[in-house]
Amino acid sequence: MKTVVDPDLCTGCELCVDTCPDVFEMEDDIAVVKVDQVPDGLEDDIREAVDACPAEAISVEG
Ligand code: SF4
Repeated sequence: MKTVVDPDLCTGCELCVDTCPDVFEMEDDIAVVKVDQVPDGLEDDIREAVDACPAEAISVEG
């Protein structure tokens, strides 16, 4: 699984970083994905972050 954050939509609320700090981090007040592939076992956390993102800025592939 891959996940991406659209920097044009992200409002910098940090919710995804709180939900899954192994995958998301803040950079210049927006969230960025710091891994090429979502590590095994974190897929559900990513789906939770996708659903919780108030800006609908997170998407997944694969
Ligand atoms: S939850 Fe959404 S809006 Fe908030 S920091 Fe993450 S990507 Fe940005």
